[in-house]
Amino acid sequence: MALRSDWSGQACPIARTLDVLGDPWVVLILREIFTGNRRFDTLKHSLGIADSVLSGRLAGLVEHGLLAKSAYAGAARPRVEYVLTEKGADTLPVLHALSLWGRKHTVPPEQGATMRFYCLECGNESHSADWCVDCARPLTVETTGWRRARSPEILLELRSAGR
Ligand SMILES: [Zn+2]
Repeated sequence: MALRSDWSGQACPIARTLDVLGDPWVVLILREIFTGNRRFDTLKHSLGIADSVLSGRLAGLVEHGLLAKSAYAGAARPRVEYVLTEKGADTLPVLHALSLWGRKHTVPPEQGATMRFYCLECGNESHSADWCVDCARPLTVETTGWRRARSPEILLELRSAGR
């Protein structure tokens, strides 16, 4: 999946992180998997991504240990879906930080809903990437809900997404 120089040996952890996460498709795939969209065909549909690109990025995420393959009962034969490992789930605050930065510094295509995320412990919207400022609990898969720009009426609890 290397698109650039190998930064995995850099002293700076930002550079090492970008060696794993520094590709837009990788981050968008993780976003989808947090919401329970875990299968090749549905990822392809949601992202509008070419088969070869999607399979390459998924293989890289498995290789780096952010995703694991899990079998589920398909219509004709067992199929594979991709689930977050602990290492993968730890990217949640990274996605939140990207969302917050984008809301502050980029222009949405039209007026309307934006992505918002919530602490499920106290119910308040969070404006911090990793902690609920109101109740001082960490925002994890277990404690976070998302309202996505395209479906703001739905509070998607990440802990139950896709289950
Ligand atoms: Zn809270």
